[in-house]
Amino acid sequence: MAFTLAPLPYSHDALEPYIDTLTMQIHHGKHHQAYVDNLNKALAGSEHESKTLEQLIAHAGAISAPVRNNGGGHWNHTFFWESLLPGVGSAPSGKLAAAIDQAFGSFDEFKTKFAAGGVGRFGSGWVWLIVHEGKLVISSTPNQDNPLMDVAEVKGTPVLGVDVWEHAYYLKYQNKRPDYLAAIWNVINWDKVAKRFEEA
Ligand code: MN
Repeated sequence: MAFTLAPLPYSHDALEPYIDTLTMQIHHGKHHQAYVDNLNKALAGSEHESKTLEQLIAHAGAISAPVRNNGGGHWNHTFFWESLLPGVGSAPSGKLAAAIDQAFGSFDEFKTKFAAGGVGRFGSGWVWLIVHEGKLVISSTPNQDNPLMDVAEVKGTPVLGVDVWEHAYYLKYQNKRPDYLAAIWNVINWDKVAKRFEEA
């Protein structure tokens, strides 16, 4: 069964002024759509056609480069849209907040280290907060790889992921990736991140 692109869980202008409307339209409607279309093309008629996205991701490196890149693109973007929410701008609470303090010292230190992980990713990729061997860890991946893949350097269960490809921020922030990564905290869906943490 072919994969399809789900609508955004909010309107294209919902994350203004932190993420602009045109970026969201192109990012979801063109980039994410292309990952879905190219994943379907790569799978058509192959032995992997009936697999779930999670199964494809787990073996992405072993299957093929098109499945790794486009399956990763589909999984990562779906996860990213669900990680964001307009008008939140809050901080984590409860067990997640305690685990962040324990792992990184404080929420502010976590934000600094997470942003450094994103800025430090050369070229295109993602920065992640993952549960790795029972602990919260910041990691990053190149291109459309993610921590669930067989090829990941640091494997774990993602609880937050931020896209640091230029297409995610260039229209508004141009070359200033650190500014984008500073603004993103205004639109993180901490309830969603906390739910993933408790399930991990
Ligand atoms: Mn992207």
